[in-house]
Amino acid sequence: MSDESQELGITESKSHKPGEWYAEVVQKAGLADYAPMGGFIVTKPRGYALWEAIQDALDGWFKETGVDNVYFPMFIPESFLEREKDIVEGFDPEVAWVTQGGHDELEERLAVRPTSESIIAPFMADWTRSHRDLPMRLNQWCSVVRWEATETKPFFRTKEFMWQEGHTAHATNESAWEEVWTRLGQYEKVYEEVLAIPVLRGKKPEHDKFPGADTTTTVEALMPDGKSVQGATSHNLGQSFAEAFDITFADEDENEKTAYTTSWGLSWRALGALIMTHSDDQGLVLPPTVAPTQVVIVPIWQEDTKEDVLEYSEGIAADLEDAGFRVELDDRDERNPGFKFNEHELNGVPLRLEIGPYEVDDEEATLVHRPDNEEAVEDRDEIVDAVDEHLAEIYDKLYDAAEENLEENVREAHSPEEILGTIGKHGGYVKTPWCGDEACEEAIKEKIAAEIVMQPLTDEGGTTAGEVPEPDVDGCGVCGDPADEIAYFAKSY
Ligand SMILES: [Zn+2]
Repeated sequence: MSDESQELGITESKSHKPGEWYAEVVQKAGLADYAPMGGFIVTKPRGYALWEAIQDALDGWFKETGVDNVYFPMFIPESFLEREKDIVEGFDPEVAWVTQGGHDELEERLAVRPTSESIIAPFMADWTRSHRDLPMRLNQWCSVVRWEATETKPFFRTKEFMWQEGHTAHATNESAWEEVWTRLGQYEKVYEEVLAIPVLRGKKPEHDKFPGADTTTTVEALMPDGKSVQGATSHNLGQSFAEAFDITFADEDENEKTAYTTSWGLSWRALGALIMTHSDDQGLVLPPTVAPTQVVIVPIWQEDTKEDVLEYSEGIAADLEDAGFRVELDDRDERNPGFKFNEHELNGVPLRLEIGPYEVDDEEATLVHRPDNEEAVEDRDEIVDAVDEHLAEIYDKLYDAAEENLEENVREAHSPEEILGTIGKHGGYVKTPWCGDEACEEAIKEKIAAEIVMQPLTDEGGTTAGEVPEPDVDGCGVCGDPADEIAYFAKSY
């Protein structure tokens, strides 16, 4: 192996040092770099392209379901933030403040938005006159800042992160619930149909919901290292924000009523989950749905075959491009095929086409799947359909592996020893009856830093919150008191 290819390759192992491995994949696959200020990252073109793929999918679904995009200022006056007390208390330790503009001290401090309810809600109040203005559905794509003093982990933990935040107002609680489930369903869909990651749906326990919310619903994804990622959240805010910001409307009977509001968000943490879930010790692995390059063609020639091989390769590239695939023909002279294979593997190109003189003579192409190196030889005439099928197969492989990981890693436990032992040994989710007392979560958290990440819900998707199903066995898995709820414990990102 030359020095050059060693530098190119991943040196850490996913199974032994997942943290170091992840950081190396992010940098070497050209997704992001660390900024000069701790806690911030620079998103590079290939990383941003992945974020755009998520944006494109979600933004289209939002618009099909009545959402309009808007943009609000990144600063929120302190007096606005203070109008909803739960928001202030919930975010206070993490808010970054602007106190000076130019050389002058500001009369009122400005918060760099940690989330935008407090600046959007007062305008929704202005814009809502009658029931005919509702539901009002606004969304913005932006970044927010939460000044956490933790180690930087690109896309998982950064002080500033990209996200979308949706904010809606409704005439009835039922309408607000429909909204909450619509958005949670779209988040589930983006994970399962775009990112090839199955998720669990449920709600956060009372003590861990969004500040000011009635209910916080969540989609959770299990990473191969056994930790859970909160994939996206959708909150029913009840009337707390509408009351704090006077979002009222004249109902059909002309009576003044208070609206119900929701908010919902998905951040670039989804990119972290994507990278962590599928990638391996050779580098990045991407589902074809989001890969900036879906197919790379690597021609393999000698001096006397170069012209034929290149011409044949160009023909295939043109056909695939015409069919709408994102194709790259890697005809660089200065690199040998082995180097090219490694580089495209590192960058996560899902499908490689190898074309040498034999393929030209036989009118074929050799196809290699990135995730497992499975090879197939396909006819030149059928290449467009074949590529389409192989890309679909690659997506299914990635999804199936992630699904298997999830299915194998939900375990039941009925005592603190069993909960601790199971998470300690296997990671994953531990499902247990729970009495509802936060102290029981605390007891587990203190010992192994696992918490209740989710509670399953019955009847979800309707016009209510649904209910947490009753456990088969009575008795809280931690304290033994009567328990009528189920909780999923896990370590989390
Ligand atoms: Zn308990």
